[in-house]
Amino acid sequence: MALAVTSSSTAISGSSFSRSGPCSDRKALQICSFRLSDLSHVSQRRYSLKAESPPTRNDSLVTRASTLITPGVEEKEEDVEDFEQLAKKLEEASPLEIMDKALQRFGSNIAIAFSGAEDVALIEYARLTGRPFRVFSLDTGRLNPETYRLFDAVEKQYGIRIEYTFPDAVEVQALVRNKGLFSFYEDGHQECCRVRKVRPLRRALKGLKAWITGQRKDQSPGTRSEIPIVQVDPVFEGLDGGVGSLVKWNPLANVEGGDVWNFLRTMDVPVNALHAQGYVSIGCEPCTRPVLPGQHEREGRWWWEDAKAKECGLHKGNIKKEDDSTTADLAPAIVHDIFESSNVVALSRGGIENLLKLGNRKEPWLVVLYAPWCPFCQAMEASYVELAEKLAVKGIKVAKFRADGDQKEFAKQELQLGSFPTILLFPKSAPRAIKYPSEHRDVDSLMSFVNLLRSVRKHDDKELVLELMATLTRGRESY
Ligand code: SF4
Repeated sequence: MALAVTSSSTAISGSSFSRSGPCSDRKALQICSFRLSDLSHVSQRRYSLKAESPPTRNDSLVTRASTLITPGVEEKEEDVEDFEQLAKKLEEASPLEIMDKALQRFGSNIAIAFSGAEDVALIEYARLTGRPFRVFSLDTGRLNPETYRLFDAVEKQYGIRIEYTFPDAVEVQALVRNKGLFSFYEDGHQECCRVRKVRPLRRALKGLKAWITGQRKDQSPGTRSEIPIVQVDPVFEGLDGGVGSLVKWNPLANVEGGDVWNFLRTMDVPVNALHAQGYVSIGCEPCTRPVLPGQHEREGRWWWEDAKAKECGLHKGNIKKEDDSTTADLAPAIVHDIFESSNVVALSRGGIENLLKLGNRKEPWLVVLYAPWCPFCQAMEASYVELAEKLAVKGIKVAKFRADGDQKEFAKQELQLGSFPTILLFPKSAPRAIKYPSEHRDVDSLMSFVNLLRSVRKHDDKELVLELMATLTRGRESY
């Protein structure tokens, strides 16, 4: 790690100031913003650091974190600090300023969690501070080859060794022997994630006093909407043990995904080759897939499960405890409604019950079952409103029914609700609603669905539905 220290310092003094060009990009400037005076420590540190041999790959994070004192690195004794107050103070700070503060405060007792996806931005920010930094990662054994190649490229680019942590071999063996290699498709991803990710992470964090993550508020339905810039980790313990012994920094909390990408492009850093194939959020190979236009990035992870369960346990503290577990929606208390358009009718419970009862309707109805806090619904809002405008002139009614909270059970039992959003077509003369079977939620795909089925009648319902399924799933299987 001392090698990383020296190379980082050299890099900042040799190149980062001359990078004013890229940072003059408006978006990048916003997230690069940093006062030059804040970097005054860089030149001083350059002369005080000695290069050491790089650590070998066998070094364990735990051992190293508890024994390594990087020569020349200021070891700040952490005062008792109110991290809630600090988070508020840093609310307007740039990621670079936050990163600098985190590294300055915790020295060699802090490390960046690197998953092999966009959080390479964190490493770049750390480099830009000119401070020494550590990077660790969890090798679950199920990552894509592209991710391993990125790890290698990042090590070379930054002159660092990533400190890998692996799952316990005995635990993996027991899981796989008992349940097979793909048990997560059958009974959920939690057990496998616990063995391959959460427990190794717990071990790794036990060697640290703070860690840095790439979590952003815009990433996940409900679970990440209240991420503070810095917090006492609500789930994991650090080096000193016990509740409150670990601090978690989230320098990208307030940054949007698009801005992270502007930054990565501007700084010309290595990225995972899977991003070019439509992958956004990248985890293990069997649990990650590309996302389609109109889909939220987290829909590419554990897609067979309900939207609200899409956290692997690494950031479980994001999930609010519910007073009433029967209405355990992760909705924030106040949330603005979506699909607001004069062409979209808001159906009450009585309204949709009537629609269900009618065997012969005056016109076909297209209805989305949604929750306004669900980013997957939010992601398809523009398409749905545009579709409603187009269908209005064709005499097809477009509606929405809010199906979370108290309505969820009813929607599950009577309206085929699986996860949000669920889209239903009530044809003119077929009694039963037809559920849209695809995840392509762009205007054209939805329009083909409506056109194919709008005139379906009771007796030909089944045939047409089968035809539609075949057409739509052909598209889905091709990615
Ligand atoms: Fe297992 Fe999938 Fe979790 Fe990876 S993401 S640890 S493969 S369940």
